Amino acid sequence: MECLFCKIANHELQATVVVEDEHIIAFEDINKIAPVHVLVVPKKHLQNVAELDPEDMRLLSAIQAAIKHIVQATGIEESGFRVVTNAGESAGQSVFHLHYHVIGGRNLNVALG
Ligand code: 5GP
Ligand code: ZN
Repeated sequence: MECLFCKIANHELQATVVVEDEHIIAFEDINKIAPVHVLVVPKKHLQNVAELDPEDMRLLSAIQAAIKHIVQATGIEESGFRVVTNAGESAGQSVFHLHYHVIGGRNLNVALG
């Protein structure tokens, strides 16, 4: 298996895990851009958000629950945070296994592009 995030999901590679369940694993980004920068990753290998199908709704619920847990546990729920998922090269996706960045703990630029 060549995929980096599959290896982290299988605990073949180390990461600082924040929350994990049957469907997802969430861990600290290795190159944080803010005091809170956690990646929420489904254990199922999907390239990006465009590959999600209606049968993946349980997985999406698990992602949503993890996001909520992270923002509450880190205290950024009130101050504000951003959830980003990059899809494809022109969006800057560099790891081609679906993941959601949860970023907060500082003032974030308003511009998305
Ligand atoms: P993308 O650019 O695909 O949206 O985001 C990939 C993210 O994965 C980047 O923010 C990068 O810092 C992070 N990343 C890449 N390799 C590793 C790794 O081995 N461990 C962890 N924890 N994060 C990684
Ligand atoms: Zn993968």
